[in-house]
Amino acid sequence: MRVQEILARLPRVDHVLDLLADHPAQRPLQKKCVQALLNDVRTSVRGGKHALVTSEQVADLARARLDTYLAASPTLVINATGVVLHTNLGRAPLSEPAIAAMCAAAGYCDLEVDVATGVRSSRLRNLQWLASGLCGAEDVLVVNNGAAAILLVCTSLAGNAGVALSRGQMVEIGDRFRVAEMVAAAGTGVIAVGSTNRTHLRDYQRACEAGAAAVLWVHRSNFVQQGFVGEPSVAELKKVAHANKVPLIADLGSGCLASRTCFDNEPTVAEVLAAGADIVTCSGDKLLGGPQAGIIAGSAALVARCRQHPMARALRVDKVTLAALHATLSLHATTPNNLLLHQVCEQPTSALQARAQAIAEALGWPATAVVEVQDTLGGGSLPGQQLPGAGLCVPHKLGKPSDVARRLRGGSVPIFARVHQERVWLHLRTVPSTADGELTTALKNLHVQIRPG
Ligand SMILES: *Cc1c(COP(=O)(O)O)cnc(C)c1O
Repeated sequence: MRVQEILARLPRVDHVLDLLADHPAQRPLQKKCVQALLNDVRTSVRGGKHALVTSEQVADLARARLDTYLAASPTLVINATGVVLHTNLGRAPLSEPAIAAMCAAAGYCDLEVDVATGVRSSRLRNLQWLASGLCGAEDVLVVNNGAAAILLVCTSLAGNAGVALSRGQMVEIGDRFRVAEMVAAAGTGVIAVGSTNRTHLRDYQRACEAGAAAVLWVHRSNFVQQGFVGEPSVAELKKVAHANKVPLIADLGSGCLASRTCFDNEPTVAEVLAAGADIVTCSGDKLLGGPQAGIIAGSAALVARCRQHPMARALRVDKVTLAALHATLSLHATTPNNLLLHQVCEQPTSALQARAQAIAEALGWPATAVVEVQDTLGGGSLPGQQLPGAGLCVPHKLGKPSDVARRLRGGSVPIFARVHQERVWLHLRTVPSTADGELTTALKNLHVQIRPG
């Protein structure tokens, strides 16, 4: 059959829609879906794939696609990559109290009212007190994410004048987004100072003389510099900034509130403020272990300027996020050992090894399948630092690594493994021990799937 002939004989949209009459999705959505499917078919026919499809076939494809669009999303997966803060897998896993708080705030809640007096009040009232205390800051403001925090702080404190930023701190934080470009997008100029590897105090001094309205220090949270490198400390920068009567803004990114054994090299918000930063910005869903949020902590006068800027309204956070962040900060304030993120990071290798052994035995895998692995914090924190962990290496005979990884993602709860050096690795640190059964079943299914017939 000729291409033109196949195209002419493709099912009509109306005809396919009749077959979808019992599908719960509304008609315009069904139509959009069917039209897209038929477009795909036309493209493949024109590309030389002579496929004649029936209305029934298109209806079945449309059903599957519509069901995918309608299913809960995003939804639970098992993170067996060993990357603790995996941006594509939702960064920090929330602690139970944070999850409960989100549910409690989901309906009507006392978001902006004082229950005792019935008078309107701030949505940040309790959170602000807790966060300020934990950050050692006079005041705190919460916005949508770390990027929003940088945007608001630079716009509010530097306006159209520039911020001085070292070329060695022009960080790209992921997905092509760069700190310097984000600052510029808000209309604030960026006065690049120093060189990639070395920046001196006098470089900042010159930028201030050239009109910089703030000094911006950015934590190299996702890469390290080595060799002939050097830059002033926050304490030294403070002197230059204050001599020139401009604020020192520190973008910390990682959001570390308290040092733990596994991230004890990471500066905490309180340390950076104590070292002389006037304002610190960071993320809520990195080492803080909470929901996506941006925290602006520092001097009361400067935080007030951020709060009063019109952009603050556009960047404010939702009640559900506030509830989760508040619960996370409550854990930091009382029982930080109960924070899920800390528990994930501090699992001893021996415990991970024991779990890997139990799974390998249940599957009848050789002892060599139990392996030592290197886990990482990820999400732009602790570059180069690894956490010794344990896990499983899927035996070769179960198939090509890319196929195995794909099959593991295809189960009822998708499992994300690490494919590395032509093998599939399952890191147990990031898998809750309660999911070991699920993981074992999925691995058992790999055997079933390769059995011939
Ligand atoms: C992660 C990060 C950001 C951005 O924070 P998001 O919450 O992802 O928007 C900004 N600066 C630094 C240094 C970071 O590490």
